[in-house]
Amino acid sequence: PARDALLEVNNVEVIYNHVILVLKGVSLSVPKGGITALLGGNGAGKTTTLKAISNLLRSERGEVTKGTIRYAGERIQDLEPAALVRRGVIQVMEGRHCFEHLTVEENLLTGAYTRRDGKAAIQSDLEMVYAYFPRLKERRKSQAGYTSGGEQQMCAIGRALMSRPRMILLDEPSMGLAPQLVEQIFEIVRAVNEGEGVSFLLAEQNTNVALRYAHDGYILENGRVVMDGPAAALRENPDVKEFYLGMS
Ligand code: ATP
Repeated sequence: PARDALLEVNNVEVIYNHVILVLKGVSLSVPKGGITALLGGNGAGKTTTLKAISNLLRSERGEVTKGTIRYAGERIQDLEPAALVRRGVIQVMEGRHCFEHLTVEENLLTGAYTRRDGKAAIQSDLEMVYAYFPRLKERRKSQAGYTSGGEQQMCAIGRALMSRPRMILLDEPSMGLAPQLVEQIFEIVRAVNEGEGVSFLLAEQNTNVALRYAHDGYILENGRVVMDGPAAALRENPDVKEFYLGMS
């Protein structure tokens, strides 16, 4: 096992509906305090990998049929998502998923539901989230459904932070956002990583931005890791440049 790995995915295979083999033996690791990017095109298996880790495949009729997933040394693949949240692992789903009829602040507070500590701690974490996302503070009384796409993405990440995670699985944070907002979201990811020590595994089709903020990356193609390494090395790799960064 990799030294100082917080999350270790080893040779994981996922099958949907008992027959559709989608992950064909994926291995990756996220170091403690790392930002690791999971890259690849549409349908490569990024979301499936994140859902395998957070045990969200069952509702999609998917199943991990081979391999192991360990977090902080513990095998986690049979744990319920809520049990994982209590251990500090939380997923932010693609497409943001805020509760549209709740206000921004109510959304953030729903993120604290698994916690057993008191009101004061939750209040101080709310302030922590607002410090990273001043925009959410301005919008805290607004109904989430009426906020912009960027604000909803912030709200989804902020809500995850309210569970006091050690690791966030972030699915496609750039999706549907203007370049400037994408940059802003990634700046916040970096700030949370540095400020709170939260580790990130982030799935992204936007290779360019992901490799500028991540420390390491894995490229998935057709359910297999085809390349991995430090982000700086991947950025300079000729194949990555040609096929993923659109330059040659
Ligand atoms: P995207 O960016 O489109 O989400 P991705 O890399 O995250 O792409 P996945 O969503 O993991 O890819 O999908 C990988 C493959 O698994 C695709 O071929 C997809 O059609 C298939 N797949 C995903 N969910 C299911 C499901 N519930 N049942 C059957 N096949 C599925």
